[in-house]
Amino acid sequence: MNFMLHDHDTFDESDTQIIPDTVLEAVRILLRWSGDDPDREGLVDTPKRVARAWQEYCSGYQENPALHLDRTFEDVGGYDEIVLLKDIPFHSHCEHHLAPITGKASIAYLPRNRVVGISKLARVLHGYARRLQVQERLTADVAQCIWDHLQPHGVAVVIEAQHGCMTGRGVRTPGVSMVTSRLLGCFLTDAGSRKELLALMGY
Ligand SMILES: [Zn+2]
Repeated sequence: MNFMLHDHDTFDESDTQIIPDTVLEAVRILLRWSGDDPDREGLVDTPKRVARAWQEYCSGYQENPALHLDRTFEDVGGYDEIVLLKDIPFHSHCEHHLAPITGKASIAYLPRNRVVGISKLARVLHGYARRLQVQERLTADVAQCIWDHLQPHGVAVVIEAQHGCMTGRGVRTPGVSMVTSRLLGCFLTDAGSRKELLALMGY
């Protein structure tokens, strides 16, 4: 038998947030149904850990990602070129299998008079990623949020990710990643802008 010790095995008892019994029982049922014994020592605290982990994985439901774009700066020193945040790592979960999606996103916009702090783009991404997703909708949601709230000349979101439901089950194709993109405004309509953008992104 294999014993693996993880650092999170030191369970934090000080975290007193109540998890409903029905949630704990649901995890126990799944453990039993998977073929294991939820009462064995290594699994006793697992339902609690799983519940807390899922609260974190899905914490995006508790926030409105658009709020990260509320504070903008209008004094940009005449800067009117593309702003690009490249290769932002993220984690999400697919809504079909609850399997992890891990990848990186590149987010760009061409500002119209105002910009946001660059970290805010990553926060918008995480706000949507920390929900159950399909990659196509995640890509579209992030782009639309920036489009609606910054009203820039253009927005582009490109996401490249691996899906646990593809690499660890089903067709089992590790190393395969999926690329999705959403282009709005000038990046969609103007070939020159799009070409410049894709060159910056390295595509
Ligand atoms: Zn899936």
